[in-house]
Amino acid sequence: SGGSGRPAGAAASGTGAVPWASAHPRPTGLLAELTYRCPLQCAYCSNPVELAAYRAELSTAEWADVLDQARAAGVLQVHLSGGEPLLRRDLPELVGHASGLGMYTNLVTSGVPLAGDRLAVLLDAGLDHLQLSIQDSRRADADRVAGGRFHDRKLAAAGLVRESGTVLSVNVVLHAGNVARLDEIAELAVDLGAERLELAHTQFYGWGLRNRAALMPTRAQVDAAAAAAAEVHDRHGDRVEIVYVEPDYHTGSPKPCMNGWGSRQLVVAPDGDVLPCLAAGQLPGLETPNVHSGKIADIWQHSALFNAFRGTAWMPEPCRSCDLRTVDFGGCRCQAFQLTGDPAATDPACRWSPHHETVLAAAGTVERPPVIPRRLR
Ligand code: SF4
Repeated sequence: SGGSGRPAGAAASGTGAVPWASAHPRPTGLLAELTYRCPLQCAYCSNPVELAAYRAELSTAEWADVLDQARAAGVLQVHLSGGEPLLRRDLPELVGHASGLGMYTNLVTSGVPLAGDRLAVLLDAGLDHLQLSIQDSRRADADRVAGGRFHDRKLAAAGLVRESGTVLSVNVVLHAGNVARLDEIAELAVDLGAERLELAHTQFYGWGLRNRAALMPTRAQVDAAAAAAAEVHDRHGDRVEIVYVEPDYHTGSPKPCMNGWGSRQLVVAPDGDVLPCLAAGQLPGLETPNVHSGKIADIWQHSALFNAFRGTAWMPEPCRSCDLRTVDFGGCRCQAFQLTGDPAATDPACRWSPHHETVLAAAGTVERPPVIPRRLR
């Protein structure tokens, strides 16, 4: 850590900021978190821990209105997610509505409640793409981290998707308990017919933050995983898009969260909260806008929350004079808040953050407590 070696900005005293009002980008992606209900209880779940506030889910008509408003604001892709979106019985209606608006529809699912007839109905409604999570290559390990007997049902769901000819992505969250099997997991995903495979080290939010010490890979595991991911890419990269997401606690480089706050994506939570990223509802001092009290285009353009960390003018040092400020946007605001108490701080994952020691200490954990199973409340 420390400042040495940090890329110097062209204008150390200036911010390089463009006033937001002159930029007017439009959102292109909507993450529609239809419900936080879920049959799985993954130990690394990044959804909010306190779910009681989200039980009052938007109705079918309200979600249809959200989709109309999002499309009018510029959104072209909708990711139907959760929790488990298949638990919403109106999912085919919402897929059909988005599809009718000309949006590309992606279902982000555990696959667990996916029977053949449901898939057929969703495809008839216009579903374009399906993103399936798997936990591990081995049943017992997968079921342990997911909190139930789900692995075989996921494999069956993948079979249905493959038979239907739908484009399938497979997502895997990597952590201390499965990262040694990266190669085996990748082979399973390729066998399942994945056209895209995302191997992403776990991020520490929500329940995942509580399990941080249990899930944190060692430096040796991280190094071995990078080598294994490169081998997987060599073997399958010509047919399968392989995306390997490094662990920011170990790299010294923060994540370019949401590709810039309020720059491309917006999230609508099950209760209608409108957010720049999944975890932004936890940030203090900023009112969370909601579809019950405002229009999406207006919230996107003018709300305090969406404007709080747009561009670079809000940045403190060392980000303010760093050349990477338009590459990683100072990292993740929610991680900065979780680890420093200040959402405007440089993300401690950055090697130049004054708080980087906390991340190094967590990444160097030697005591590994047992995983605490997620309890949905
Ligand atoms: Fe530079 Fe800030 Fe990114 Fe660190 S977080 S690399 S200081 S812009």
